[in-house]
Formats: sequence, C-alpha cells, structure tokens
Amino acid sequence: MEISINNLDFSNLDNKLSHLSKEKIVEMITSYYEGDKVKELLEKYEIDTNTSNLVRIFPPFLNGEYCMKCGSFIVMPLESRSYSNYFNNSQKYCSNCGHQEESFCNCEFCKKEKMEAKKLEEERQKKLVEKKKQLLCNHYNEDYWETILESDLSLEDRLYLAVVLRGALSEDTSYIEPLEKIEGEIAPTPEFEVEIVKTLTGRNILVPSLKSKVNDFEIEYLSEDEEQYKITYYIYKVHYRLNVMPEDADYSAMIKRLMYPDLSREEGFQDFCYETWGRVALNECLQYLLYQMHRVGYTFSPGDKTLRVFEELLEYFSVSQIYSIIYRSVANSTQRYQAKEITKIHAQNSVITSCESYGQRAIAQGWKLTYYARLRDLPETYISKVLFTSIMQIAELGFTEKPTPDF
Ligand SMILES: [Zn+2]
Ligand SMILES: [Zn+2]
Repeated sequence: MEISINNLDFSNLDNKLSHLSKEKIVEMITSYYEGDKVKELLEKYEIDTNTSNLVRIFPPFLNGEYCMKCGSFIVMPLESRSYSNYFNNSQKYCSNCGHQEESFCNCEFCKKEKMEAKKLEEERQKKLVEKKKQLLCNHYNEDYWETILESDLSLEDRLYLAVVLRGALSEDTSYIEPLEKIEGEIAPTPEFEVEIVKTLTGRNILVPSLKSKVNDFEIEYLSEDEEQYKITYYIYKVHYRLNVMPEDADYSAMIKRLMYPDLSREEGFQDFCYETWGRVALNECLQYLLYQMHRVGYTFSPGDKTLRVFEELLEYFSVSQIYSIIYRSVANSTQRYQAKEITKIHAQNSVITSCESYGQRAIAQGWKLTYYARLRDLPETYISKVLFTSIMQIAELGFTEKPTPDF
C-alpha cells in the first residue's frame, strides 16, 4: 500500500510537523519506510523530536471505512517500520468522535449507550423486585392461611415450638426473629435443627412473615407466562409468625403455655419423652464425636453404621459416659496414627469400630465408665433444655443417665 496525500488524515496534524507541506510529509514518511536513518530525517525536515517519537507523530492512515456512530473517517495509526505491517488494524478509531469497535470504547456515543443500558437494567431489576414483593404479599397474606388450633398441636409440635419460641420470640411476642440470630444452638446437630424448623413450617404452625426481607425468598417461575411459580426461602433468615389460634382467645396466655408447656397429663407423654430423649441423646453423641474428630483434623460424616453403634450404646450408657468412650477412641486412633502404625484414613475410620468394641467390653464386663462433663464449646442446646428441664423435669439427669421409659 502506497502512502499518499489522499490516504493520510491531516486534520489533527501534530504541531511538530505543521511547518511541512502535505507533500513534504508524505515524502518524509516514504523515506522512513524505505529505511532512511531517522536521525537524518529529523535534521533534513527540521523536526524537533527524538528518534523514537517520530513515528508517533505521523498523521494516521485513512482506511476507507466510516464510523458507525458519527459517519466520519476511520483512521489507523502508522506503525514503526520494524513491524511487518505499516498499519495497526486493531487500533483503528474514528477521527472525529474517537469511537473504537471495542467493548471498552468510551466515546461520547458509547458512553451514552452504556448509561441508557444501565438505566434500563436498573428499571428492569426494580420491576422484578416489585413483582416479587407483590407475589410474596399475596402468598403470605395472613387472611389466606388457615390458622392451626392450639388444641390440635401434637406433643412434638409443642416441644419444637417451645424450642423456637424460647430462642427467637420477639420482645413484643408478635413474631419470631430470624433463627440465624439465636444465641446458642437450637439442637446438637444441623440435621436435627432443620428437622425441627421444617416440621413446624411443614405443618403451617410457623409461616414466613412479611417482616422478612425480599432477598430471604427466591421465586422460581414454572411457566413461561410466569403465572405458575414456586416460592422458596432461607429457613434461617426469614422472620416467622405464629399461625396458631388460642383456645381461649387469649394470645399472651397461649404464648406462655407454648413457651413453658406442661404436657405431663397429655396422652402418650411418657412414650413421647422416652423416644425424644433417645433422639436428643443420639444427636448429642454425634455432636461430640464430630467435635472431637474435627479437633484432630479428621473429616468424617456419620452414616448408618455410626447411628446404629450409638443407638446400641445408649441402651446401656448415658451421653456423659459415651463422651468418655468417644474421647478414648479418638485419642487411641490419633496415637496409632502419630506412631505411623496406621494411615489417617484408617485412623478416622477406626474410631467408630473402637467405640463399638470398647462399649461391648464395658457392657460384658460391667465396667463403671467415667462420667464426662459437657464441654464449654458445646453448651446445652435449646431442645435439651426444654425437654429435660421444662417438660420432663429431670434436668441434668437427661445427660448423666441413659434414656429410660420410666424416668
Ligand atoms: Zn465517530
Ligand atoms: Zn464508541
């Protein structure tokens, strides 16, 4: 491609070349690409710049294209002769508005387009949030929910409800604070906690309150016209309201009954307590097991076998005694691992087997196992406090005695 007066853009000519005619400039550039020494060119054409800067003040090349934004000529900077090509095609830009066919272009036109796109997107988001709010308002409007009668609550409902109310009932008793804000734990394991919450929400005893934040909910549209949708929510983030109606129309008396339930005269009380004691105890064993294993760097998730082993141990020993079995088993396995007798995987897998065989020997030989205390890191959880102290009124015995039906 030949450089000529016709294919150079002289409109923004650098001052350092302004004393030269267009013809002289073309002649100088041609000599440059033919290989003349830059220093000699600077002298000959009386250009006041250094050798490396000369090519940068060359007028750019008109490539014959026009700007999509303003219609002016597109130009390309001329490249140093050390490159194979005179032009840098990737750096073409509009001689008038500076537009470049690049996503980062910040010319006045692109700036405006980006601002408009941003505004549209913001409006779209705002509309989406409005729509979501509307859907949530309709869905969770109290008028559409049938209230549960207090007298219809089961023993399990009452226990779980007491746990949640004690942990999270708002000061004015009108709603339940997000469960993530509770100080202390609801139950010894996350699985048990989720079960407590999902039992109450599944039976519509607790319903997400409109006090919750919009972001605590997700809406998934199931049909293209968005008429069908599914609402999900974060069970630890939403506020709840109590969807239970008192028998005597006295809300605050009901709250008191629900927080401090007296169930001893209810049918099935004894069986319910025995069964729940077993579940709380099992979960406390798992909590302690995971805590001790985690502390020595084991990764472990309890499966069926683990559950069976601890269920069996709880037939003979209290949680407090099983703590000592777990403590010994974890300590033994880490000792063997540190002595390089076994691998880490083997060591962590051996803990449950060791709990089992130690327990079996203790049963067979009638050993008196040590009673361990609760750890500072694992304080008593709400479910245990409510069950043992309020409902069964056996307090610490729930921890130091094995579960029995006739407490
Ligand atoms: Zn332009
Ligand atoms: Zn642009």
